[in-house]
Amino acid sequence: MSPWRCFADGRGSLFPGTGWGSVSLLKKLDTENYNVVVVSPRNFFLFTPLLPSCTTGTIEHRSIMEPIRNILRHKKATVRFYEAEATKIDYEKRIVYAKDDSEIKGDTMETEIPFDMLVVGVGAENATFGIPGVREHSCFLKEVGDAQKIRKQIMDCVETATFKDQSPEEVKRLLHMVVVGGGPTGVEFAGELQDFFAEDLLKWIPEIKDDFHVTLVEALPNVLPMFSKQLIDYTESSFKEEHIEIRTKTMVKRVTDKYIEAESTKPDGTKVLEQIPYGLLVWATGNALRPVVKDLMSQIPAQKNARRGLEVNEYLVVNGTENIWAVGDCAVANYAPTAQVAAQEGAFLARLFNTMAKTDAIEAELKELSAQQAVARPDERNKVLEQISERQKQLRRTKQIGPFQYSHQGSLAYIGAEKAVADVSWFSGNIASGGTMTYLFWKSAYLSMCFSSECLPPRPFPIPFPATFRPFPNEDGMTLICSSSQSRPRRI
Ligand code: FAD
Ligand code: NAD
Repeated sequence: MSPWRCFADGRGSLFPGTGWGSVSLLKKLDTENYNVVVVSPRNFFLFTPLLPSCTTGTIEHRSIMEPIRNILRHKKATVRFYEAEATKIDYEKRIVYAKDDSEIKGDTMETEIPFDMLVVGVGAENATFGIPGVREHSCFLKEVGDAQKIRKQIMDCVETATFKDQSPEEVKRLLHMVVVGGGPTGVEFAGELQDFFAEDLLKWIPEIKDDFHVTLVEALPNVLPMFSKQLIDYTESSFKEEHIEIRTKTMVKRVTDKYIEAESTKPDGTKVLEQIPYGLLVWATGNALRPVVKDLMSQIPAQKNARRGLEVNEYLVVNGTENIWAVGDCAVANYAPTAQVAAQEGAFLARLFNTMAKTDAIEAELKELSAQQAVARPDERNKVLEQISERQKQLRRTKQIGPFQYSHQGSLAYIGAEKAVADVSWFSGNIASGGTMTYLFWKSAYLSMCFSSECLPPRPFPIPFPATFRPFPNEDGMTLICSSSQSRPRRI
């Protein structure tokens, strides 16, 4: 399908979301061509790759948050932002219903926002697969609030375990940190947590030495399924050295306040149901559709068979619509739901929309020239015809925007003990590496992304890397922050 069929009549465009997809689009969009409104319950962009490091205080959460207002103030034309959740998108009426769900509310809490063009970038929510007890008893790891909750609970478990007269059995339970889901979120968090124990907790509270224990539970036969076999083996052996237990082929079926019930498959194929007590439970089993996306899908007949998100065509137009696009985790374009994909999709849409606006201007000029040549004197007509031919060439060139093509830069994950694994694309091949050098690569790659214009607006301050760094410095100049390997400052 050509993108030009998607051309909307008006210019009222609405972007729900302030995540990787929407912010990348906003950053590159020539906003003077559109009347842009952004709606999101989160008034900041979150650099998710460093979120696991916030759970233990290696990185201060404010360092990976960038206020959306700061991003918008760099735009040439005004972009309106409403801190609200899009509760419903009415496809027929072209209206987004938005609700202010923040703590402080004014007299008006709900509103309707009409749109001509809509880009849905609301991401995904945490998958629980309807497993009983997950929402009530576990912590997720998607938002800043989740990382803060985990950070508080780790310390609470440790302090409660060392409370006077606690029974040895209860101490063991409280100090058992269980992570469910062996994807990159679960692996990175387990690595960070074990680091925190080895580098800080052990020094502060040596008596927990024999009881503090991290277990990673995964339903599949191995962790990190998106990495090559070599790196999976490396991660598993590295976890063994760090004393992180991996329980593969173990599927959690039920969660209570003190234990999880899991079915594990033994080497002979028999299945055993067991109860695993825990103090802290972190649930990282991937993505699920947000209700607002599910509802929108139900309004579009062409989305009838879609399961994992809004199915889009090669120009990221939501199938079955002409004026709705989708980016990131809420869209299904046959790529993994990653920040890399979302950011590239956002940048692609900005290029597409900028081009559409240019085309509009040329077409208006052509209309004007055509009217001029109809009434022009014979000696002037040739001049006008030349201009028409020039504009037509320009129009053809402008319209030559190809479909979205994702360029995979590779996969990177921190696995603890200052080691990382990387499957990086190199020319037409792939390089798999793991270890401390890869960790330095991981660290510098994410740092450079924090600073680069690819991710956020350029920041005019010096980068004291690697001794200490502040991806997004705060006004008070207090936050860190990450450190050299000698000292990993933490704040609990
Ligand atoms: P998000 O970035 O999740 O943004 C969604 C936005 O929509 C948010 O602003 C949210 O507040 C807003 N929103 C939600 N509901 C509504 C609503 N109803 N109305 C309006 N707005 C709404 N990917 C990588 O490539 N590399 C990594 O190293 C990496 N590390 C990760 C680490 C963690 C801990 C996590 C959780 C994810 C990581 N990812 C990584 C995945 C990556 O973060 C996601 O793929 C990416 O955030 C998707 O971008 P998005 O714009 O679709 O959604
Ligand atoms: P994921 O979907 O990658 O992994 C979830 C894991 O949970 C799966 O391996 C699944 O088998 C397991 N699981 C599901 N139900 C289970 C159950 N009941 N019991 C036990 N195990 C169960 O999820 P994620 O790690 O949250 O990642 C989500 C997306 O974000 C992915 O696309 C990922 O690539 C991306 N991400 C990337 C990075 C990185 O590149 N470093 C980091 C975090 C997330």
